[in-house]
Amino acid sequence: MPWKKKLWNDLGYMGKHKRIWTRLGKAFHCEDSFCNKKSKTFGWANISGKYEESTTDWKQLCMSCHKKFDFKKRNPNGMSDKNQRQIIINGLLRIRDEINFIIASASIK
Ligand SMILES: [Zn+2]
Repeated sequence: MPWKKKLWNDLGYMGKHKRIWTRLGKAFHCEDSFCNKKSKTFGWANISGKYEESTTDWKQLCMSCHKKFDFKKRNPNGMSDKNQRQIIINGLLRIRDEINFIIASASIK
């Protein structure tokens, strides 16, 4: 079977990173203006979070800025993972109370 180049949308997370690497070359500097220039490891970071094929959706970041960037992308409101977990738990507890209420009111007759 002949080797066929995979379509962009069929690529996984690593595949997309690899394809960008092949297309744009190895990342060699950090494009973050607030970079502390301590990390010497650079990589391609996806900007929109949609992993677009367009090379404008990628930028070079050092490992340190990449971590900060990904954290901000996951937590746009600046909330920590712990806070987000608590919000989800509170939501589930409220749903449980509502279900209990519905069961309780259904059995009163
Ligand atoms: Zn940096």
